[in-house]
Order: sequence, then C-alpha cells, then structure tokens
Amino acid sequence: MEIVEDGPFRFRIPQHGQMRVPGVVYASHELLPRTFDDQALQQVVNVATLPGIVTASYAMPDVHWGYGFPIGGVAATDVATGGVVSPGGVGFDISCGVRLLAAGCDRAALASHLPALMDVLGHRTPRGTAHGAVWHVGRSELRQILEGGAQHAVDRGHGVRRDLERCEDEGVLAGAEPDRVSEQALERGLGQVGSLGSGNHFLEVQAVETVYLEDAARAMGLSVGQVCVMIHCGSRGLGHQICTDYVRTMDQAMSRHGITLPDRQLACLPVDSPEGRSYLSAMAAAANYARANRQLLSEVVRDSFEAVVGCGVDLVYDISHNMAKMETHRVEGAELLLCVHRKGATRALPPGHPDLPPDLAEVGQPVLVPGTMGTASYVMVGTVGGGAFHSTCHGAGRVRSRHAAMREVNGRELRDDLESHGIAVRGTTLRGLAEEAPVAYKDIDAVARASEGAGLCRKVARLVPLGVVKG
Ligand code: 5GP
Ligand code: MN
Ligand code: MN
Repeated sequence: MEIVEDGPFRFRIPQHGQMRVPGVVYASHELLPRTFDDQALQQVVNVATLPGIVTASYAMPDVHWGYGFPIGGVAATDVATGGVVSPGGVGFDISCGVRLLAAGCDRAALASHLPALMDVLGHRTPRGTAHGAVWHVGRSELRQILEGGAQHAVDRGHGVRRDLERCEDEGVLAGAEPDRVSEQALERGLGQVGSLGSGNHFLEVQAVETVYLEDAARAMGLSVGQVCVMIHCGSRGLGHQICTDYVRTMDQAMSRHGITLPDRQLACLPVDSPEGRSYLSAMAAAANYARANRQLLSEVVRDSFEAVVGCGVDLVYDISHNMAKMETHRVEGAELLLCVHRKGATRALPPGHPDLPPDLAEVGQPVLVPGTMGTASYVMVGTVGGGAFHSTCHGAGRVRSRHAAMREVNGRELRDDLESHGIAVRGTTLRGLAEEAPVAYKDIDAVARASEGAGLCRKVARLVPLGVVKG
C-alpha cells in the first residue's frame, strides 16, 4: 500500500481500487501502524469505499484494528446522495465515552485519604451484571432513560442541573426511539444502569500534573495539583446488542440496495432508508443510556468524596467517542448534511462554535483523552481549522491485543509495580489487569503530541493517575 507523507503529522493513502476518496492518517512516523496494526490501514482503505463518503477516510494518531472500521477512524457520508450509516462505524459500545470530574481538593490534601477513598470507590462502583448497578429500574424507567439520558437521571435527583451544561448535547441525544431497540437489548440493559463494565473501562482518580493552556484550564476549572476523577464507560450490553442486531439487519438488506463492500463487517445502508433511520434511533437510545450511566457513576464519586475527603466534585465535561452524528459541514464549497461516524474518535469543536456551553464558548470543546492506568491522560481542546470534521484522538490506542498482553504481562507484578509508583489498584482480576497493562498501549504523550502537531486539537493539561478502579 502506498503511503505518502503529506505534511507534518499527516500521511495520505492515494485513492486506488474501489476507493471513492483517499485515506488520511494523522500520525508521527513512530505512530504509523505496523505489525499488529497493519490491518488498521487496510481498514482505512476499506472504509473509503463506502457509498456517499466525502473528503477522505480518516485515521487518528491512536488508530488500531477494529470491527470493520478501525478504532480511531472518522468517516462522513453525504445523506442527500445515498450516503450510508454503518453500525460498525460507531462500534459495539455505542456512545462509549469519558467524563472528567474536578474535586475540591489538591493531591497533597488527598494523600492521607487516598487508600480509604479507593476502598470506598472500589466497593461502591458496580462493574458488571454480577456486581449489580447503581440504579435498579423497571421497564418504564428504562424507556425514560433511553429517551432522556443524563437529563432524566438528573430529573430523578442523580446530580445537579449544572452537570447537564457540561455534557455534550446537554446529556441527551434527540431522536431516540426505544421501540427500535430489540427485546434482547432491553433485557441486557435492565440490570446494568449505572455500572462500569469490564476491561478497558475504568474510574480513575488523577491529579493535574502540567497545565499547557492557562485560560482554557481555568475555564474548565483545572489547576496544577488539582484532584480529578476520570470515568470511562459506555452503553454496556444494551449498546452491544443493538450493534449486533443492526449489523445483521444491514448485512441481509445490503444487496437489495446494490451495495457491495470489501468487508462484510462494514455492513451499512443509506441513512435515508427505513433500516438506516431505525438504526440511528436505536443508536440514540443507546447513547442516552451511556450518558445516564456516566451520570449515575458520578453520583458514586460525589458520595465517596463527600464521605471520605469531605469535599465536593464538579463536572468538567462529558464526551462520547463512539457515535454517528448528523452534522452540517462545508464540503467543496457546499453546505452538506453529513452522517459523521466517529469510532474511537472524539469530536473537537473549535472556539466560537454555537454548540458549546456559554462558559466554554471562547475556549472550544474539551477533549478527554485517557492514556493508561500507569502513565498519563490528557485534557485537550478543539481548534479553529481542526481536521476530519472537527475530530481528534480518543486514547492511546492499542499496540497489543488483550490476548498478547495477557501472555506477556504478569498481573501480580504489574499490580505491585503500579502500587510501588503510588497508584492504588482496585476491582479487577489479575488477568483483567494484565490485559490492560500500559505496554498494551501506544505512548499517550506521543499521541497527544501528534494530535496537536497535526492541528486537530491543543493540549490543555496532563493528568497522572493516583488510583484506578478497573472494570
Ligand atoms: P477504548 O474506548 O478504545 O476502549 O479505550 C480508550 C482508551 O482508554 C484506550 O485507548 C486507552 O488509551 C485508555 N485506557 C484504557 N484503560 C485505561 C486506564 O485504566 N486508565 C487510563 N487513564 N486510560 C485507560
Ligand atoms: Mn467502551
Ligand atoms: Mn471507549
């Protein structure tokens, strides 16, 4: 495959074969995928064949192999000319995302409380079905969650109104239709409202180590030494089942629409088709479930800080990294309604964008980028210009599969190593820990540097881990 260096931190895969647009890969030389990740670039090429795709098939600096679409991929399709929506372009964990909370204390004040705080957080955070959920709901409440997202959770007393101002879409995605969600998906969702999930999902206590952009950090309520909590989770079994259901539906219906693809995992249908609309309504329902989920876990954080440390906790921001969104963008001089797929990619609106909350209007959209439990995480922000329809990275990105990591890493040694570096670990099996070892991921500092260097976003702050509850 030909790869051309196009500019700083920017590579191009020229259009060839069935590609309708070129591929664009934002990366440094070091981050360009190889070995384990070879397939990711082939996936960028495959995505470029989707009906209605415009401008390019994009890969962010954290790109790696995924189901059909790469993780760290962005693709936008033109709705008016038969552009498609693909469940694989959103991913199985619909609206998986990150929420950052800022505590009213600094790391020095927290130090003596940290072990007790981690015990309480580890104990109170539901992690899977076996461990229950924050909120036990019945069918009608579940429907309200699917329609109302974090707003519904706040309406029911789980959080404060200000939280919603700091959520993407104010905590609720319009157009959700629970009737488009299968019985099986609802059943899986019932017992998991307010739970972390497994593996890569986490709740981490962090401290701000470096601030790069003072004004942006101040507007977000962040300063050096400040204690924060980062929550990473999504729509659990409900979102997974919706993806499974609609991949099957679309796979079966594609040929009737005359769509042929290089990989069945790219199964898709026009946005403007009954199945396409139905998927987007079900996806929105799952997105609302994910947002309510993060809102409920924040309540655990607040209660725990109040009880152990005696301080309050404010929401900095909540943003998804697995979504398809209908957005208007200017493409070759024309305003087009696009279906923008971001899978393992974060929206990064520039300063001045009308969708930003008033107090962040001059700053831009906060971008929350987890690294690993042993290294660092970043808060970044959208920039004027930007790229890939205002998108950027969502994490460090894997370089080793779970399996490979598990084989190479001894979970007990890893835990001891983290603890000896002052990072408290709660709530997972040693095997689960090994699968998520820092060596399984790319260098988060390099990913942040490349994302900034490519002009996709700017660094606001670097956060370091103090303790992690792993799913
Ligand atoms: P994904 O959404 O693709 O599953 O994961 C997003 C990112 O979360 C990964 O690329 C990785 O960089 C990051 N991550 C996974 N586990 C942890 C953790 O325990 N702590 C932090 N800070 N980041 C993590
Ligand atoms: Mn997820
Ligand atoms: Mn995620």
